[in-house]
Amino acid sequence: MKRINSVVLACLLGLTAAVQAAEVRDVRFWRAPDHSRVVFDLSGPVTHELITLSNPHRLVIDIQNTKLAADTQKLQFANSPVTGLRHADKPGGALRIVFDLSADVQVRSFLLAASGDLHDRLVVDFLDKGESVEAQVIKSVETSSQRDVVIAIDAGHGGEDPGAIGPGRVKEKDVVFQIASRLKERFERKKGYRVVMIRNGDYYVGLAKRRDLARKAQADFFVSIHADAFTNPQANGSSVYALSKRGATSASARILAQRENDADLVGGVSLSDKDQVLAGVLTDLSMTASLDASLSVGAQLLGEMSKISRLHSKRVEQAGFAVLKSPDIPSLLVETGFISNPGEASKLKSSSYQSNMALAIFEGIDRYFRESPPPDTYFAALKRGDTPGGRPATAGVREYTIARGDTLSGIALRYNVPLSDLQRHNQLSGSSIRVGQKIQIPAS
Ligand SMILES: [Zn+2]
Repeated sequence: MKRINSVVLACLLGLTAAVQAAEVRDVRFWRAPDHSRVVFDLSGPVTHELITLSNPHRLVIDIQNTKLAADTQKLQFANSPVTGLRHADKPGGALRIVFDLSADVQVRSFLLAASGDLHDRLVVDFLDKGESVEAQVIKSVETSSQRDVVIAIDAGHGGEDPGAIGPGRVKEKDVVFQIASRLKERFERKKGYRVVMIRNGDYYVGLAKRRDLARKAQADFFVSIHADAFTNPQANGSSVYALSKRGATSASARILAQRENDADLVGGVSLSDKDQVLAGVLTDLSMTASLDASLSVGAQLLGEMSKISRLHSKRVEQAGFAVLKSPDIPSLLVETGFISNPGEASKLKSSSYQSNMALAIFEGIDRYFRESPPPDTYFAALKRGDTPGGRPATAGVREYTIARGDTLSGIALRYNVPLSDLQRHNQLSGSSIRVGQKIQIPAS
């Protein structure tokens, strides 16, 4: 009797397993300057297979034992090689997804396991071909002895990673992008600076890649913009963080660093993008000099920020923030207020507070670079009393050389310039460009 029962039970379990297929509950699309990302929200872990086909170009994904329970019609694939998405249920229970593609693109996929509030996700990246835009920018950097100070502005989170979410579903990624954009404008209005935006839209950039982008752009300074959150909605105030070579300066700094470092789990980083070099970085001597500079800028920032916001901490706090681990670039992370505090959330959404915060950050960094300019810069020449001649008057216009795989719309997206401005400025009527062609990027 007992034996029969267990046979029946085994059959039932087998049946349940067959019936309980995983579900695709949502599908999202994100366009970044160098890739397009599709994310499938899953009800549980799955196995999948990719098949690339040509003539015409397609990507087929078979997700085993899975049903589609999401609206794929809402997806907009603008500015990407994806022209459409179809799906079908295969015999045997697999879900087949077919992406129609306009070109032969490199594809990678990876699974993100459920953690915390997050479900299992399947990420598919379509990598653009051609030289990256970032690499091109460096080539166009002027070789004058009075170069610009390069400021890398990093709007935290983005794409799959909303960051902290405040009352009324206000998202950290949106608020900090607005503050970062206002900060960019501030710097671009002042002679002697060039800005690199680490993220130029709503997509996720891995923490290690953020540092790499700053290094590739030969940044003199890196500032990462965030908004804080805490379970107690009363928590308030803005704060400034630098990297710590040892432990964190406070328990709350350590917890904050852990939370910010978890962004890669949320935003989605494939193994190939993960950090390879961090282990040895902190022993580098240049780290000490960078950290000293970071702390000096941080003190200036706190002085400026105290004029417009209550400070959560009156000193520059330190902890092991992954995004700040550049051995040679002074780097700070600014928490611009608590998005979990209803009063501060509404301030963070307002254009006046965003502008004031951007101005405070600008003033703090600007004061530092005017007082301690790198020797080959315009500010160093100013300080020495040299006449700042011999530099081309670019008025914010940059030159860009078209590389293989570039599209005009992709360049517009990367530089945050309307496509129509780009066309008008270069007297282009359509969107056809050729490799090697030089175009002017107007100030955005
Ligand atoms: Zn954050």
